[in-house]
Order: sequence, then structure tokens, then C-alpha cells
Amino acid sequence: MNGHVMHFHVLTLFPEMVSQGLSESILGRAAQRGCIELETVNIRDYTENRHKKVDDYPYGGGAGMLMQAQPVFDACAAVKERIAARRSGEGRADREAAKEALATEVPATEPPAKEASAKGVPYGAQPPVRVVYVTPQGEVFSQRMAEELAAEEDLIFLCGHYEGIDERVLEEVVTDYVSIGDYVLTGGELPAMVMIDAISRMVPGVLKNEESAETESFQDGLLEYPQYTRPEIWHGRQVPSILLSGDHAKVGKWRLEQSEERTRQRRPDLYEAYSRKDRAVSWLSKDRLSHMDMLEPIRRGQADVIRAEEGGVLLHDRPSGVWMLSASDADMGERLLSEIPRGEKELLFAVHQDFLVESIDRRFHRNRVNVCRQAVYTRKTPPAPDGGFMVRPLTARDADAVYENYHTVHSREYLLGRIGAGAMFGIDGPEGLAAFAGVHEEGSMGMLEVLPAFRRRGMGEALEAWLISWMLKKGWVPYCQIFDGNGPSLGLQKKLGLKLASGRLYWIS
Ligand code: SAM
Repeated sequence: MNGHVMHFHVLTLFPEMVSQGLSESILGRAAQRGCIELETVNIRDYTENRHKKVDDYPYGGGAGMLMQAQPVFDACAAVKERIAARRSGEGRADREAAKEALATEVPATEPPAKEASAKGVPYGAQPPVRVVYVTPQGEVFSQRMAEELAAEEDLIFLCGHYEGIDERVLEEVVTDYVSIGDYVLTGGELPAMVMIDAISRMVPGVLKNEESAETESFQDGLLEYPQYTRPEIWHGRQVPSILLSGDHAKVGKWRLEQSEERTRQRRPDLYEAYSRKDRAVSWLSKDRLSHMDMLEPIRRGQADVIRAEEGGVLLHDRPSGVWMLSASDADMGERLLSEIPRGEKELLFAVHQDFLVESIDRRFHRNRVNVCRQAVYTRKTPPAPDGGFMVRPLTARDADAVYENYHTVHSREYLLGRIGAGAMFGIDGPEGLAAFAGVHEEGSMGMLEVLPAFRRRGMGEALEAWLISWMLKKGWVPYCQIFDGNGPSLGLQKKLGLKLASGRLYWIS
């Protein structure tokens, strides 16, 4: 098994409904193999009421009963304590493993024996555990949400029953309100099971190859093509002959066409988003080097294409919240900018034309501009090994050192978040961190810093070469953005074989 174990904790008045419902088939086997772990917690066990009561009448009158705050709060607190105890045990084990790993030297161009997981900080400060209240009043669950939640190490689900739960405890413990659709069920157990099923399928090791999630509906924004199995003729109906041809390329093309047609007919809303993405990619690809910062987030599925026309594209990158724009002229720029909500407090833009800089100042009163040039690593193989430095993933304990040496642009929280996501790496000197670099939320390489005492030894080059190889292994295109006037960085990019884009990129905050 590769990857992490996903721990689900379900707070419910009907624990057997959940444990039995998830004990069969693929999820049952995944639990036996240890890819996922399910803990059901009976909220009733935590009530302080002598008669084991957990509900009462709503203040102000109205139909039905409400679950009381105390048992829910105490059940949740007990689960969080157990999680903390388990994690601190794992932290000890991790530290032991890290000591052993340090004993064996890793060359700079090889990935570390154990990559820091995306689920959080390996040891030291732990990220808070998310508590999901399943409720018809939440954001509607989706494949994208399932993927995002699958990166967590623990998830607590809170199931309501009767008329719901006292608002005060929800305010104290819940981090996410999630619905499974616009209808009302009698309890939260089925919604929690629906979500656990969808999330589990995204956890590495849960599906075997033959159950692969990769070609499924929604994975690329399209519904799946029709499928057929034996017999070849059934009720006089023949399997489409192309599927018997053995020509994989033709089968692939046919399936894509079927997917597109099916999505267009059955889910026009999905089809519109899919074709927007298609239009965006084809326009941006006219200058791939300049637009790699927009093409990569689209390809990795982390950016929403808000508008795509012949002449301009507007994206919203979800992890970073950055609005990305490129337009062929000022009129198109204005049309794209009119799509961005004005009310938002934190607005960050990455734009490709200077006329957009003025428009953004006029519209949004944002005028702090950093001018960059983009450089893209276009080869499929990593740069030649270099330096023999040992590169390791950073941990929460490195956060102070990183922040002290790199706080010109980014907050401590941002840097800690990148460390927690397993996207920051470093080289140690005799007394601590000597150099570090990482991948930004929106996907570019950056944050490269070699401490003054360690410069001119090739550490920066080794680190970036290592990052490039790490990104290529993930199937990503490595690219970075160099502040105008940063000659040494420009030199480094050329040396490593990155190609410079012709245009400029303007970051506006
Ligand atoms: N009075 C509540 C309201 O209008 O929002 C509905 C309560 S419902 C009868 C009881 C419980 O079922 C909820 O607390 C919630 O946990 C769960 N539930 C019902 N419908 C749901 C849905 N569509 N998605 C997620 N959970 C749901």
C-alpha cells in the first residue's frame, strides 16, 4: 500500500447503521487492508442526562425535537483527544524513522525516501481536524470536494437527526457544512456514508487497478461513455463494432466523442464548463511559454475557467484565490474584469498585459505591482545530477528559519501552509537550514533562498534541479517567475535549461 491511511470518525445516534453500511465490498476490503479506518461514535454514550436523553423541544416552539449541545460537544471532544493521542504516537515513530533515514545519504537529484505527505505537517504542529456537519444547508458535495477531503488524515462527520442540532454547538465545533443535494432526509447517516464512499475511492490503495477512478464520470468534467460486456449480441442488440476492433486509438477517440455527446445532452451545465476549458486551452496555447502559469492550473484541475473567448481568458485558481488574466486588447480586458466580484477583500491578480494593470487599479484600487518574466522547463527529463547535496522535505520546525530569511512577499501562515502541503524542500548546513525552495499554491516553483554564508556553492542549482525532477515525476510542467532585474535568478534558469517567455507577467495585490 502506498500513501496514507484515512481515518473516518462518525458521530451519530445510529452507529450500527453506518458501520454495517460500510462493511461490505470495496470499502470493507479497504478497511481490512488498512487503507481506511472507520470509527463510529454513539453520541448517546456522552449524554450527562440520567435517562440517556439527547434531545429536547426547540425554544420558540415548532415541530419536532432538536439534538442538544452537550452530548454532541463531548462526543466530538473525545474523538479529537483520541486523534491527538494517535498522532503524537505516530510523531514519535516518524522521528525515529527520520533519524534512520538521515543515516543514509540521498543524492540531490533523487526524491527523498519518504516525501512529506500532503495530509499535513509530518511532526511538530498539527493542523486542526475538520469536522463536517452533514446538513441540507451546506455546500453541495461534489467529486472535487471528495478529492480535496481525501487529502486529510482524519475527518469527523457529525450526523444530525430529528429536526437537527442546537446551533450553539455547531458554531463551536463545525468547520464544514456539506449537503448531498436539495432534499431533506431523516438523518445524516446516509449522507455521511455517501461522502465516505466517494472520498475513500480517492484514497491511494482503496481501488485496485481494475476499479480505477481515473476514467470515471466527472474526473475530467465529462460523463463517462457507454460500456458493454458479454454477450456480444443481447436482445438482438450488437455491441458497437469499434469496441471489437482492437484499435486502441480509435476506441479512445470514439469514447471521448460519446462522452462529449452524452454530457452535452444530459448535463448541459457540465458541458458548458468543459467547452469553456477547451476554448481557454486552445487560445492560451498560442503562446504556451507566456501562458504556462494559466495552462498548468487548468490541466491540474485546480483552476475554474470563468470566461474564455477568442481574444482572452479569465481564470480563478482555487487554492491560491488568484485571478489570472490574459487579453488581446483593452476592451476584452474590461469584459473579463467585469466578471470579477468587487466585494472581495483579498484580491490578487496575475495578468499578462500592461493595459490590465491600469484597468485593475481603476476598478479595484489595487496598484502594488511586481513585474516578472516566466521561464518554463520544456524537457521531459530532469537536468543532469549536480552537487551531491542532500535535499529533504521541510517540516513545521523549519518554519521560523524559512520565515526569517524569506518574508518579503509571503506571510508566515502561507509558508507554513506550503510546508504542510509537502511542497517545500531544503538543504542543511552544519547548523541548520542552508537553502530552501518550494512550489507555490498556484503551481510555480519559487521561494528559492540560499543563506548568504552558503552562496556560490551550487546549492540553488541543486535545489531547483531537484524540484524540477520532483514536479516532472508528478506529471507537472515545471515553471517559475523571475522578478524583473533579478539577474542571478535569470542566469540560474538559463543554466538549468528553462526557456524564457517573451512577454511579462504582472502580479497585482
Ligand atoms: N431542520 C433541518 C433543516 O431544515 O435544515 C433538517 C433536519 S433533517 C430532518 C435531520 C438531519 O438529517 C440533519 O440534521 C442532517 O444531518 C441530515 N440531512 C438531511 N438531509 C440532508 C442532506 N440533503 N444532506 C446532508 N444531510 C442531510
